Amino acid sequence: MAEVAFKEILAGCTKEGELYSRIKENWVQCFACGHKCKIPPGKEGICKVRFNIGGKLFVPFGYVSGIALDPIEKKPFFHVLPGSAALSFGMLGCDYHCSFCQNWITSQTLRDPRAVSSIEKISSEEIVNIALSKKAPVITSTYNEPLITSEWSVEIFKRAKGYGILTSYVSNGNGNPQVLDYLEPWVDLFKIDLKSYSQKTYSQLGGLLQNVLDTIKYLHLRGKWIEVVTLIVPGMNDSDEELTDMAKFICSVSPDIPWHVTAYHQDYKMNAKEDFTPTAALIRAAEIGYKEGLHYVYTGNLPGQTRNYENTYCCSCNELLIQRQGFRVISNKISDGRCVRCRAEIPGKWRI
Ligand code: SF4
Repeated sequence: MAEVAFKEILAGCTKEGELYSRIKENWVQCFACGHKCKIPPGKEGICKVRFNIGGKLFVPFGYVSGIALDPIEKKPFFHVLPGSAALSFGMLGCDYHCSFCQNWITSQTLRDPRAVSSIEKISSEEIVNIALSKKAPVITSTYNEPLITSEWSVEIFKRAKGYGILTSYVSNGNGNPQVLDYLEPWVDLFKIDLKSYSQKTYSQLGGLLQNVLDTIKYLHLRGKWIEVVTLIVPGMNDSDEELTDMAKFICSVSPDIPWHVTAYHQDYKMNAKEDFTPTAALIRAAEIGYKEGLHYVYTGNLPGQTRNYENTYCCSCNELLIQRQGFRVISNKISDGRCVRCRAEIPGKWRI
């Protein structure tokens, strides 16, 4: 599909946003992500999907590019209702342009002409009805960056919460206080990427490290459940020093925040044969996480290959509590949110 035609289709699935203010001469400033773009009339923000027409900011609304029932372990949330399903939906666009993106077909829309994906118009009521009919206890905004489509997520989540459904974001963490305040009443769970501990690397991806660190601290202070993910990309973020810095930071916020260190495989612009994460690198990252004091560190994307690092152990008595392989829960011995053996409380959301 020609890019211009696709842009017009997307422009038809919008409404006036809430996360913006008018500035000078019909310019607007958007607050949906950490970029806080100042956008002149007729132009769009860095994400390409929020645009200014005549001094009003129009934002994505009323469609999905994908919707599926995923294991909650795939998000990944390992301390939320183990073994349950999360109804997952995504839109198009991203505020970053990572060369290793594993969702680039949806995330790089209107930025990379090869990134073309179909969309389906849908109402928030229909999405919630799907979750109810499939008995999914969680709805997740994922597949592209949810911050940039926050008005649509909030529309869905307001309705979902009326039915006691938990709501979640799978986000790169490029937040700011305005969007996080806006989301606070409506989003229960956050998966946040900590892609690196170097601003130089974040500059290559199109972001600011400090925004991500501040987002993690902000969400924790407000009592949100967070799990942090670091995709270990060889040569980019896998040095002992950088892994130690990331683990230390998470631990300084709370040692109870789970840290997922996950394996990269060839994708998007990083597609050389050697572009994958060796098993040993994941194990080393997990060991560093535990050495720095984190209570729960998990390896991902190499099922069954990383010793016991996919499992949850009690951090008080070391009892095996949840045994996993990949996204599959083999056994779960957490009872009433506590270790079955020593009764220590295990942080997470174990019931709705
Ligand atoms: S969501 Fe972020 S990148 Fe997109 S227009 Fe708003 S501030 Fe800019």
